[in-house]
Amino acid sequence: MNQVVHFQPDADFRQRSRAAVNDPAQRRNFRGAMDFLQEKRRAQFADRDELAGLRELGEAIRRYSLARLPQLLEQLERNLVANGIRVHWAETADEANAIALDIARSHDARTIAKGKSMVSEEIGFNHAMADAGIDAFETDMGEYIVELAGEKPSHIIMPAIHKTKQEIAALFAEKIPGVDYTEDVDELIRIGRKVLRRKFAEADIGLSGVNFAVAETGTLCLVENEGNGRMCTTVPKVHIAVTGIEKVVEKLEHVLPLYSLLTRSATGQTITTYFNMISHPRQPGEKDGPGEVHLILIDNGRSQAYADEQLRATLQCIRCGACMNHCPVYARIGGHAYGTTYPGPIGAIVSPHMLGLAATYPLAFASTLCGACVEVCPVKIPITDILVRLRNEAQARPGGADASLRGSGAGRSALASALWKAWSLIYSRLGLYRLTSWFISRGHQLSPTDQGAWTRCRTPLKPAARRLRDLLHERKR
Ligand code: SF4
Repeated sequence: MNQVVHFQPDADFRQRSRAAVNDPAQRRNFRGAMDFLQEKRRAQFADRDELAGLRELGEAIRRYSLARLPQLLEQLERNLVANGIRVHWAETADEANAIALDIARSHDARTIAKGKSMVSEEIGFNHAMADAGIDAFETDMGEYIVELAGEKPSHIIMPAIHKTKQEIAALFAEKIPGVDYTEDVDELIRIGRKVLRRKFAEADIGLSGVNFAVAETGTLCLVENEGNGRMCTTVPKVHIAVTGIEKVVEKLEHVLPLYSLLTRSATGQTITTYFNMISHPRQPGEKDGPGEVHLILIDNGRSQAYADEQLRATLQCIRCGACMNHCPVYARIGGHAYGTTYPGPIGAIVSPHMLGLAATYPLAFASTLCGACVEVCPVKIPITDILVRLRNEAQARPGGADASLRGSGAGRSALASALWKAWSLIYSRLGLYRLTSWFISRGHQLSPTDQGAWTRCRTPLKPAARRLRDLLHERKR
């Protein structure tokens, strides 16, 4: 599979995670940000019954849309084309970038103003354009900050969430000519806006993502707060939208519940400042809007997930980021440690489609399986079940019958394999399990104080002196 974005090996993931855990300032930043986002979401969903009903509906719409995905994609293409929007299909990241490059070259474009798009991050869009001598620059404030810092987003909704206002103030003072250090947040935003506004006016092409693509009307919906998405899709003379093939829904009425779930789960907002619906290029008599609109529909491993009954659920995702905000592992190590475009629980289950399980299997193990992500996911993706499935596959024989993702099985080491086999043997035989637990409880004093990675930042695990079974027996007597 030809990919642009590469995951760093397991050893690097461990190293990055360790460094993040040992960075108290970063941990404080993430903990504070996650607590804030959790509270905002909680306030939006005070009515538990309403939340339950909305989640049921959201899940049903996403499952229905995926069940009819091939037909809906064809219907979407038909209606987009009828509306004057050009549709392109890309199987890989390279293909998507090549299509965008062709469009840019046909317009002699030198600059591309980008609205926030995780799919463009996924395909390494900026690098591909830079290699071709085209300046693709970020216009979302968070993306602009991480771009200025030479970093990648650490969160799918709030790309610069790892940065404090002091760090952003120092960055602006260092990188933007004529700007003095200020910690005034409104002033920092004003500075960023001023720089970007000039660039919008000069951009040859605008690029955006798509939150929902409506098949029945041929409409691209874009959710945002800053207005930069609207600028990218209306100011330049050409608009290119990029999205994964799973974003299609059948009807306009399907968008509303998903939109409500998205904004309330993501940022704790009832509604975002902007909701853009793009159905065609500029029409005769209209004063603004691009003369040309293109949509690039990207597969990049999604068909592979679609073909598998259990993994198909990963395509239900509406990219709200709530699973990350509630994940105890993400809150500790932050987004960069994952090394993938999509971090956190969602990253652990979608990255294998894009990059192969062999390259990304450590992410499936970076979870306590506490289930917080499953509880908050607005479209009820069974994330922990999928994580367990990926763990099992990573331990399976390479190329074996269970291999459903390219590169599957490469995560097994001889020692890990032997340990899991022994574990499986003990747990599948009641007598053996009782005997083993008896021995372990009697020898609890012998448990080592140094338990490798676990004890680097936690107290050692020690078996209980008496088994639960023994305690229950005593109570019965
Ligand atoms: S998996 Fe669920 S909670 Fe996580 S980003 Fe996707 S929709 Fe949101």
